[in-house]
Amino acid sequence: MVKNHLIAKGFLIVNYIFIFWLCNSSNLLAQNISIPTDLGELNRLVQPHTPQPLLNENLPADAFNVSISLHQGETPIVFSIPGFHSLGCANCHKGESLHFKAADRMRRVLAKLKKIQPKLYKIPFRQYIIQSWSDKLLASHQFAHTTFDTIRISPAAILIDSKVYREATHLHEALHLSQKFVGLANELEAYSLNIISDPRFLLLNFPYFEDIIKTFFLKNFSEILNDFYARPIREQLFVPQETQWFIAPFNDDQLERLRQAIGKVTPLLADVSRLNRNYPKEFAYLSEQAGNPALLLEIVAAKHLTIPDSGVSEEVQRDAFSLFDLQMKKTDNIRLGYKINRKKEAFLLIQNQLMVKDPAIHLRLYFKYIKKTFVKPSGKVNVQIEENEDFNSYILSKIKGIQKMINYKGMSQIERDAARKWIKKIRLPYAPNKKT
Ligand SMILES: [Zn+2]
Repeated sequence: MVKNHLIAKGFLIVNYIFIFWLCNSSNLLAQNISIPTDLGELNRLVQPHTPQPLLNENLPADAFNVSISLHQGETPIVFSIPGFHSLGCANCHKGESLHFKAADRMRRVLAKLKKIQPKLYKIPFRQYIIQSWSDKLLASHQFAHTTFDTIRISPAAILIDSKVYREATHLHEALHLSQKFVGLANELEAYSLNIISDPRFLLLNFPYFEDIIKTFFLKNFSEILNDFYARPIREQLFVPQETQWFIAPFNDDQLERLRQAIGKVTPLLADVSRLNRNYPKEFAYLSEQAGNPALLLEIVAAKHLTIPDSGVSEEVQRDAFSLFDLQMKKTDNIRLGYKINRKKEAFLLIQNQLMVKDPAIHLRLYFKYIKKTFVKPSGKVNVQIEENEDFNSYILSKIKGIQKMINYKGMSQIERDAARKWIKKIRLPYAPNKKT
């Protein structure tokens, strides 16, 4: 949950909006979720816990640390509250109980995650930092940030996560701990966990899911989105807007239809996870090149689902494919750091040059193009990357970003050590693996 340019390994990154948690799909889907939290009460709790930048960026010199083994015989995790005394937390809280509660939360979410993804038998988790100020490692709009072997989380996020999101943020972050590279595909994978538990997470994170939902499941998805965001919220509150939209009552019938669609998307999500595990660098690169956080899911959807017929002539389809090609092969997002969604650029060209006006037809053509480009006749996904030089410099730029992060004053030793290990691993010569 975070803004995606921030980086990081599974670092967190809330995009536009954040979110999280998830759970065992069948259970969760059956559950009718009611959220008892009163917004006024939540606001009162969140207000004193809203992160602010430190004066002169001077980090607190004190910390309240406790090492706790999550299970007997396991290496203890460091639970830490920097500035516990100097920033005033001690006026209202006993440090131990905050740490014991955090350890319980992590036991619950790690158990849940292992149930959902049994192959993740080892999740690198060594440190949990409750960070009550905002800085480069945990920006004020961020709920939490998974850095290296470490979850950093704000006290406000802990409150909202336990009272509203049912620990979705923690689950999301726990998954990030296990991811091998950085970037947009990691967020897609983590939000995918979240939507299974509650369809409102899909509405909050719609850029990851919108086009597959519209094309394959709910033609009127845009109306549902509009209705969801049309509900008034109170901007003067300390409770983030997305939390307010999450809490506010919403049309049960629309939520139910969305829940059913998510049920059908769920099998695709396993494939998203598998591909992101096996080709983390490739899908990070391709997603960034396309400026499209949903790319990996769209490839998987094109692979598994029947794409509705576009109804356009062969000639128009061919011209549309050339326009997609032109856009999708551009590397300016990678080389120049632009954030242009190449899919949307192509839609504009198709509309203006080919006079195809219906957005639903644009999407059908797009999914056909994606299938032709990324899915081999055998049904396997093609992860070959054409320009190796760009790819290598992309990987290098991510490594540089992490090196810069290692030098941040606020980085702990545990994070620095784990980041250096990560760099070593990523630096191994790139050997493209052609099968999927
Ligand atoms: Zn995230």
